Amino acid sequence: MNRETPWHAIQVDEVFKALRTTPQGLDEEEAERRLRTYGPNRIEEEKKTSPLKLFLGQFLNPLTGLLLFATFLSLAIGEALDAIVIIILVLAGAVIGFYQEYRAERALEALKKMTSPQATVIRSGKVKTIRSEEVVPGDVLVLNAGDRVAADARIFEAVNLKVDESMLTGESVPVEKTVGALSEDTPLVDRTNMVFSGTVVVYGKGKAIVVATGRNTELGRIAESIQEVKAEKTPLERQLSALGRMLLILMVVIASIVSVVGMSVWGYKPLQILLWALSLAVAAVPEALPVVVTSSLAIGVYRMAKRNAIVKRLPAVETLGSTTYICSDKTGTMTKGEMTAVKVWVYDVTFEVTGAGYEPTGEITLGGRPVNVAQVKPLELLLLNAYNNNDSEVINEGGRWIIKGDTTEGALKVLALKAGVSSSLGRLGEIPFSSERKRMSTLHLLGGRAVMFVKGAPEVLVPLSSRILTLDGETREITEEVRRRILEVNDALAREGLRNIAFAARFFDDGKKDISEEDEKDLVFLGIVALIDPPRPEVKNALEVCKRAGIKVSMITGDHKLTAVSIARQLGMLGEGDLVVTGSELEKMSEKELEDSVERIRVYARVSPEHKLRIVQALKKRGHVVAMTGDGVNDAPALKAADVGVAMGITGTEVAKEASSMVLADDNFATIVEAIKLGREIFENIRKYLAYLLSANIVELVTPLFSTLLGLPIPFTATQILWVNLVTDGAPAIALSLEPGEPDLLERKPRKPNSPLFSKAEVVAFFVVFPLLFALSLVLLFKSLLKSGLPVIEARTTLFTAMILGELVLAYLFRSLRSPAYKLPPLRNKALLLTLILSFVLQVLVLLIPPIQSALDISQISLEDFERAIAIVLVAAVSLEVSKFIVSKREQQKRLGD
Ligand code: ATP
Repeated sequence: MNRETPWHAIQVDEVFKALRTTPQGLDEEEAERRLRTYGPNRIEEEKKTSPLKLFLGQFLNPLTGLLLFATFLSLAIGEALDAIVIIILVLAGAVIGFYQEYRAERALEALKKMTSPQATVIRSGKVKTIRSEEVVPGDVLVLNAGDRVAADARIFEAVNLKVDESMLTGESVPVEKTVGALSEDTPLVDRTNMVFSGTVVVYGKGKAIVVATGRNTELGRIAESIQEVKAEKTPLERQLSALGRMLLILMVVIASIVSVVGMSVWGYKPLQILLWALSLAVAAVPEALPVVVTSSLAIGVYRMAKRNAIVKRLPAVETLGSTTYICSDKTGTMTKGEMTAVKVWVYDVTFEVTGAGYEPTGEITLGGRPVNVAQVKPLELLLLNAYNNNDSEVINEGGRWIIKGDTTEGALKVLALKAGVSSSLGRLGEIPFSSERKRMSTLHLLGGRAVMFVKGAPEVLVPLSSRILTLDGETREITEEVRRRILEVNDALAREGLRNIAFAARFFDDGKKDISEEDEKDLVFLGIVALIDPPRPEVKNALEVCKRAGIKVSMITGDHKLTAVSIARQLGMLGEGDLVVTGSELEKMSEKELEDSVERIRVYARVSPEHKLRIVQALKKRGHVVAMTGDGVNDAPALKAADVGVAMGITGTEVAKEASSMVLADDNFATIVEAIKLGREIFENIRKYLAYLLSANIVELVTPLFSTLLGLPIPFTATQILWVNLVTDGAPAIALSLEPGEPDLLERKPRKPNSPLFSKAEVVAFFVVFPLLFALSLVLLFKSLLKSGLPVIEARTTLFTAMILGELVLAYLFRSLRSPAYKLPPLRNKALLLTLILSFVLQVLVLLIPPIQSALDISQISLEDFERAIAIVLVAAVSLEVSKFIVSKREQQKRLGD
C-alpha cells in the first residue's frame, strides 16, 4: 500500500479508510485475498531442500564418491560384474540414507509449523489467534503484555501500552505508546503511535491496524536474516563426529596393512584392493551417523508433540532426559486452574457461595439462607468491583459455560452474575495486573462520581487501605486490630487451600479522568473473595514418578504461602525437613544462603518473576539440570537461564514461548514428567543402536585384520562387505531406535549432562572385548575351514553367513544395554522383529539363488558349514550377554559407591 504521507502522520480513521478496514477487522475472505496479494508475513524465504537434492547429497560424502569413482574405473578396464554390483549396493544404501533424512526433514517441518509464532487479530469482529505468517495489511492486531508484535501497525487504542523496541532501535527503555497523529518528520524512535514487527509488548494492552508485513516492515528492511533459525549441532552430534573420525583412522590403518599384505602375499591387483578398501571404508565408517541420530531425535520430538510436549530445539531432548530438578508454577499447572469462588468475607462475616464450575447459577448465602446483595453495601460494591475490574468474558458455548481470558477473573465475574450484579460501568482508565504488582485497578463513573476499583492479593491491598466498609455500610478506620483481623481471615482461608483476592475502592470528587499508581492509596477495603482451585489428579502420580527417577520438584507460585502449602500437602510434596519460602524472605537471602538451602525448599510463595531467575541460578550452581516453567513476559529471563525452559501453551505469552525450549500444549505438570520420560527413552535408544552399529562395524574392520595377521586370505570381498552393510546397518539399526522404553528407565538416576555417551565399562565391553572375541572366532573358523581343504569361496560364504546372522542376533540382544535378553518381552518391538525376519529370509535366499551367488562371489554351503556358522553366532551372543552382565554389575557398584 503506497501512500504519500507516512502512516504515523495521519489520523486513525484515515488509516482505516486507506487500508479498507474497520476496528472489527477484515473478514476471512478478504484476509485470504490479501495474503495472496502481499504474500506471507515473514522475512525469510522458506528454504526447502528438494527431495532430489537430498538424494544426491547422499553421494556427496568423500568415501562414497571415491568408491563410485574407483568402481567406474574398474568398469572401464573390464571388471564388469563386481563394478555393477557395487554400484547397485551403493545406490541401495543411498536410498535408505535418503529415506531417513527425508523422514527427519518432514518431522522437523511439522514441528516448525507447531512452534511457529502466533498473533492475535480481530477478524469479522471476533478475536482470533492465527500464525504470524498469516497476518496481512489491514488486519487489526490485539496487543497484550508478552506479545511479540507480528507486523508494523498503527495504534488506535492504547492502555498503558509499553513496548520494548531495543531490537530495532537499541534503546533499552520501553517506549510508552500513544494514539494521536504525529508530525511527518518524526524519526522512527519517536513514532509512539506505531508498533513495529519483532518488538515486544512489555506492559498494558492495545489495538493496532497492520500497515506493513514481511519484507516491507522496518525489521524486514534492516535485517533480512535476523529471524534465521540456525540448525544447531547437538552435543550428541559432536560426540558422534568424533567417534566417526576415530573409526576412520582405525579403518585407514587396517586397510593399509591388509592392502599391502594382500598385494604382496596374495597378489591382488591394485585396483581390486583399492575397491576392497573403499568398500570397507563405506561400510565401516558410519559417516551418516549424525544424520541418523538427528533423525531419531526429530522423530522422538514428533512423538512428544503428540503427547502435548512440544520441544522446540532438538538438543533439548537430551537435556530433558537428564533433568534433575523441576520448578513448576502452581496455578493451572499443578492445579486445574478451574477457579470457583466459594466464600466471600466482608467485615466481619463470611458468606458462602453455591453452584459449581463457570455456570452463573447459584447464590450467595449466609447460614444457608440466600442474601439480598443490594442490602449489604460492602458486598454490593465488592461485586460491582469484581464485575467491572475484569477483562474476562463468561460465555456459553454449545451448552457449556467457559471463560475467555484469565480464569481467576472469570470466576469473579461468575460470582457477580450469580448475585445478579451485571451493570457495566464503562472504563475511564486502568492500571493492568502484573505478577509483580499483584493487583489491578480500573476507573469508572458511579452515580456521577469517579470511582477507582482495586483488586489483588490481600497482603498487597491492606497496606494501601486506610478505611474499611463494614457490614452495615459504615466506613471505619483500619486500626491495628482491624488489620490483624483481615490478615487472620486471609490466613484462615488460605490454609484451606483457597486462593484469595481482596477488593477495595476509592472515590474521587474532582472530575478524575485517568489513574496512575500514585492513586493506589488511601483505599476503602471492601472484602475478600476466596476461590477454590483443586490440584490436578494426575500430578500426584507424576510427583511420585519424579521421586523414583531422582528428580526433585519445587512449586513456585504468586499465591499466598498457606494456599501454596495446603496444595503442596494435598499433592504429598512436603516432607520432613522441607522448607517453604516466600518472595520477601528470598529477597533477604544472600546468594550463598540461597545456594545452601535451595535443595530443601519445596515451596516458594508470593514470588515475583525475577525471583525465579535467582532460583534457577542457585540450582545450577549446585550442579542441577533445571527445568523451569513460566508464562509471562517477565518469566523470559528465568526460562532462558534454565536448562529446559518450559512455557505454558494455553496461558503462556508469545515471549515466554520464544524463550523456552519446550511448550506444554496442555499446561499440565504431568506432561513435563512424561516428556522427561520420553527424553530418557529416546536417548537410551540412540545409545542402543549406536552400541549395535559401532560394535558390528568394529567386527567388520577387525576380522580382515586378524585374518591377514594369521596369514589367511582376505575374508570378505568388496561386494560382500557392502551387502553386510546394507542388510545389517540400515533397517535393524533404525528399528532398534523404536524400542519401547525399559521399565526401569525412570528408576534410574538422571544422566549427567555432557558425560560421554558410553561409560568406560561400556566402551571396553561393547567396543573392545566383545567385537574382538566375535572377530577372532570368525577368523578361527575361517582358518579351520581352509585347513580342512575347503575352497576359499566356500569358506568365505560360511563366514559371510555367520557374520550376517550374528549381526542380526546382536540387534536383537542390544534391545537393552543392561538387562539380559531373556528378561525383555520377546515380541515387544514389532518393527525390529519384522526387519530381522526379513533380513534372515533375504540371507537364506541369497545362499540359494545362483545369479545372486555369482554377484556376491559366494557359493552354496553344506549344512555342516551352516551349523558351524550358527555355532559362531552363539559364541557371539553369549559373549555379548556376558559383557552386558559385567557392565551392569559395574554400574551397580558405581551407583552404590556414589
Ligand atoms: P502461579 O502459581 O502460576 O505463579 P499465580 O496466579 O499464583 O500463578 P500470579 O498470577 O502472579 O500468580 O498472582 C499472584 C497474586 O495476585 C494472586 O495470588 C492473587 O492474589 C493476585 N491476582 C491474580 N490474578 C489477579 C487479577 N487478575 N487481578 C488482580 N489480582 C490478581
